[in-house]
Formats: sequence, structure tokens, C-alpha cells
Amino acid sequence: MKAHAALVKQSEQLQKDIIQLADGIWTAVGYAASNVHLIEGRDSITIIDTTETTKAAENILKDFRELTDKPVGRIILTHSHRDHISGATIFSEDKDVPVIASHKFKSDLVDVDPNLIAANKSLMRRTKMQFGIGLSNDERISLGVGPGNRPMEGMGAGFIAPSVIIHEDCDIDLDGINASLIHAPGETDDHLIVWLADQKILFCGDNWYHAFPNLYAIRGTAYRDFQKWADSLTMMNDLAPEILAPGHTRPVFGTEDITEVLISTRDAILHVMRETAKGMDEGKSLDDICSDLALPPSLADKPWLQEFYGKLGWSARAFAVGTLGWYDGNPTNLTCMSTISRANEMVKLAGGISALRQAASETDNAHWCLELCDLLLALGEPVAELKASTLERLAETEINATARNSYIWAAKELRETGE
Ligand SMILES: [Zn+2]
Repeated sequence: MKAHAALVKQSEQLQKDIIQLADGIWTAVGYAASNVHLIEGRDSITIIDTTETTKAAENILKDFRELTDKPVGRIILTHSHRDHISGATIFSEDKDVPVIASHKFKSDLVDVDPNLIAANKSLMRRTKMQFGIGLSNDERISLGVGPGNRPMEGMGAGFIAPSVIIHEDCDIDLDGINASLIHAPGETDDHLIVWLADQKILFCGDNWYHAFPNLYAIRGTAYRDFQKWADSLTMMNDLAPEILAPGHTRPVFGTEDITEVLISTRDAILHVMRETAKGMDEGKSLDDICSDLALPPSLADKPWLQEFYGKLGWSARAFAVGTLGWYDGNPTNLTCMSTISRANEMVKLAGGISALRQAASETDNAHWCLELCDLLLALGEPVAELKASTLERLAETEINATARNSYIWAAKELRETGE
């Protein structure tokens, strides 16, 4: 199956590798969806983040053990996303190891209230789509910021609840290595970044990676505070790191390059906020805001701002909904029309159902084809194959890994269910 050339090239960022950052400090990239960092102290080591599966954690620990046999003294979790917290039991090596996290740490592995009314089934389905669970390696090029081909055994199985809770920014002794733990809300509100001032190394979690930031994840996420994320990027740059070790993709070396990636990413977030707010003020529809949105030329060509993971249009929608809510100010949208009512009106307009089917199969506009297919499917018309093949056509030219995975996943589901 064809794939966007830039998305294929992004896999260079996700190659399996253990990268030395300084004496006794390493990063494991490409073993799992997320990276694991190792800091060697006097008599013990510190592990930052633990991946999404116990199998990946085992693979990393095995290779770390080639570097040092010192016991793990502590684990630091940069934030509560599953892909960073699920291999802790492996790294603890059956010992009672302190697990350090922010006081805001909130994991969906443990903190889900079963009495809460939530669309969990939908969340699960969308999560599988976003990450391409069940797709072949050829279909799933990557996760955008993590390799597509990686072990899935022990997914979510190795979580250990944090035992050392960090309420305020503080300095900490990592067995002879001075570190600062700094709250830095960004991709999540519970981000805790690790700063080694002596070595000038910053472990930034998911507040930066080599891709346009995932300001909205299509698996379904609450509003991520754009302004806080932008402010954290400024704060991270003010530390003047010489090495930036992110939670995904390869580290960045050199203060100048780090400033460029952090500040341009901040500016990209601010640009989305500004343009979306301007569009809303002008009374534009969200569809039009998204269609018109582009990064300015000074940012558009930056390799790390390509939409492999986050996407401009999704971000604009998230910002609009996260600030003023779902209503766009157009009273047309204060009432709604069911899909079947719209489908019936469209049939009348087209001059019959076969004319509508013909329009769906003849249009060059893939999105328009999908919209018409949805109306026809609502009327019970057998257009599942047309919709599935159109989704696959979109996947082949899609730069965003999570969109590509979703298109292909949904196409398979359509062929299986016919609806
Ligand atoms: Zn992550």
C-alpha cells in the first residue's frame, strides 16, 4: 500500500537506537511508542518513563544492562499517558522502587470511575483506529512519533502507581546527579520535566517531539490548554538546554537548534490560536477556518512542524470548542437535522437515489464522496466498498499517521460489516 513520502521519511526519527547523551546518560528510541531515558548515578540508576508494554520495557532493560549493572534506584514519570507508564514493573526488577510523578498525575489505567457516564466504548474504538491496532506493518507506517512495528505484549500491564508525589518544583538528588523536577503543563496538565543543569540536558516528556504537536488527539481528548503548552515551551527554552531528550523521536543537540525547535513550535501553537480566534471573530465557520488555516512561510517548512502527529485543522477545532464551546455563532446550527433527513433531502435534490449514487462514484473530490456515502449508507444503500476504497485512497496521500491509520482501520471495518 502506498504511503506519503514524508511520513515514510519520518520513520528515520523512530529507528531503534540507544543514544548516549553524556557520560552515563542514555536514551532508548524506537523500541516502543515512547522513549526511555537512563541516568547513571553513583550506585544506582534513574529511569525516566517506561513505555506502553512490559515486552518493550524488557527489551530496553536488556540493552541497558549492557551499559550498566547498577540497580534501578528510582523511576520518574514525565506524565500519565499510557505509553510512558506501562513498563514500570520491569524496570523495578521486583524491588520496591520509588516512582516519582506530579501531584496532577492522573492515569486512565487506574483513575477511571466505573460509575461515571462516559463514552468508553467509543474511546476504545477510536484509540484502536488512531494507533492502527490490528493493521499490518505495511499498512501502519508509524504512529507519527512512535514506530508502527513494535511489541504489543503486556500492553498497559506494568504500571506502578506513583509513590513520591511532587507538589512543587524542586531539586532532587539522583544518587550523585543533581536534577530539577519542573511542572510544565503541555500535552498533558500533569507534565513533570527533568532538568539536569550541570549537564544542560532537558528531558521534556511530550511537550516537544519531532512533529506538529498533538493539540488534539483523534482518539478523543479533553481540551489541552494551548496557552499553557506555549508558555511551557518558552520556559523550557529559557533553561537554555544543550541537549533536548523528548519522550518521542530522537534527541536534539545544540542550544541553537534546540531554541529553534522549541520557539518555532511555540509560535506554531500561538499561530493556530491567533488565526482561529480571528476567524471566529470574523464569523467564519469552523470548516472555513480549518480549510484556510496554514502555517506562515517562516514555520511551514520546518521538518519538525510537519503534521505527522498533530494537525492544524484538528487543533483549530479543539481551540474553538475549548474556548467558546461547540456553538459557532451561526443560528443555523442551533437546530440540527438527522442524517436520514439530510439524505432524503439530498436524494430529492439529486433527482433520485441512483443519481446520488452516481454522483458519489463519479466525483473527484474524495471528501465529497465520503459525505455522499454517509448519506447513502444511512438510506441502506450498499456503498460500503466505495467508501472503503475512498478512505484507502486518502490514506495513501495522508501525511498524518493517526489519520492514515484511522482511514485504513475504518475501511477494513466497513468491508467486514458493510455499514
Ligand atoms: Zn507519549
